[in-house]
Amino acid sequence: MGIISVEFRYYILFWVCIIGLCLGSFFNVVILRSLSNESIVFPPSKCPKCQNKLYWWHNIPVLSYILLKGKCYFCKEKISIQYPIIELLTMFFFAVSFLKFGLTWKTLFVIFWISGFIIMTVTDIKEKLVDCNIAIAIGISGILYNFIQTGLEGFIGSILGLAAGVVILEVIARLGYVFASTRAMGEADTYVAGALGALFGIQNIFWILLYGLIASMFFILPVFLYNQYKNNNKLTCILSVLFILSVLVYYKLLMNYWMMGILIFLGIFLSISILKNIRQEENRNYLPYVPALVTGALYFIFFSINF
Ligand SMILES: [Zn+2]
Repeated sequence: MGIISVEFRYYILFWVCIIGLCLGSFFNVVILRSLSNESIVFPPSKCPKCQNKLYWWHNIPVLSYILLKGKCYFCKEKISIQYPIIELLTMFFFAVSFLKFGLTWKTLFVIFWISGFIIMTVTDIKEKLVDCNIAIAIGISGILYNFIQTGLEGFIGSILGLAAGVVILEVIARLGYVFASTRAMGEADTYVAGALGALFGIQNIFWILLYGLIASMFFILPVFLYNQYKNNNKLTCILSVLFILSVLVYYKLLMNYWMMGILIFLGIFLSISILKNIRQEENRNYLPYVPALVTGALYFIFFSINF
C-alpha cells in the first residue's frame, strides 16, 4: 500500500466503485435470469410488464432508478428496489475490499468471491434457489488462491478445508432425519460450506461455520418466532422470549450457577417444544442458510487477523 500515492489511491477507488456499480447491475440480471432460466447475455433488457425495450439511459446503475423515480418509463410499473440495493451493496464491498487489501491479487480474489456471495444470497432469500456452479467456482478459485499464497501447504489445507466443510454440513443436514424426517438444510448449503472450506482452509473452516451459526440466529430467530406466532404455538413463543431474556441476564448481570441452571432448564424446554412443533408442521419453511454462511465468511475476511 505504501508504494502508491494518496491521489492515485482515490483515483483507483473511484474506478473500483464504478466497476462495482456496473457489475452489481449485471448481477441483478444474473439473479433475475437464473431464477427464470433465461440466457444471461442476449435478450435485450425490457420491462417485464409492458415488454417495451429499455433505452440505454434506463440501465445506468442507481442513477436510472432515481431519474425514473422507481417506475417503468413506459407503463409506470414499479421497479423493484432490489436493483439499486444490489448495485450499491456490490459497490460498497468492492470499495471496502480495495481499501483493506490494496492493489493486490488478494483484492481481485476477494471481489470475485464476494460477487458470488451476493448472487447466491439473493437467490437463496428470494426463491430458496442457489446455483451450485457459483459455489464450485468459488471453491476452485479458493484452492488456486491458497496454492499461490503458500504453495503445497496451502493447497493441502484448502482441500482438507473443503472436505471438512462438506462433511460437517452434511452431518448437520442429515441430523434433520433424526428429529424431523427431513434434511435440516438444503444441498446448496453443503456446496457453499465446501467452497468456504476451500477458501479459508482446514485451520479456519470450523470458526467460519461457527460464525455462520451465530449469524444464522439473527436471520432465523425472527422468521422462526414469526412462524411460531402465526401457527399459534404460544408456549414456544413464550419459552423463546424467556430463553433470550435469560441469556441476556446471564451475560449482562448475573453470571452465576443459579442463572446458568435456569438458562439450561429453559433451553431444554424450548428445544423439546420446538422439536415437537417441527414434527407436527406439514409444510415447514426451509430457512435460507446461505446468507448466514456468507455473513460468517465476510466477518472472517474483514475482521480476522488470520486472513
Ligand atoms: Zn413497463
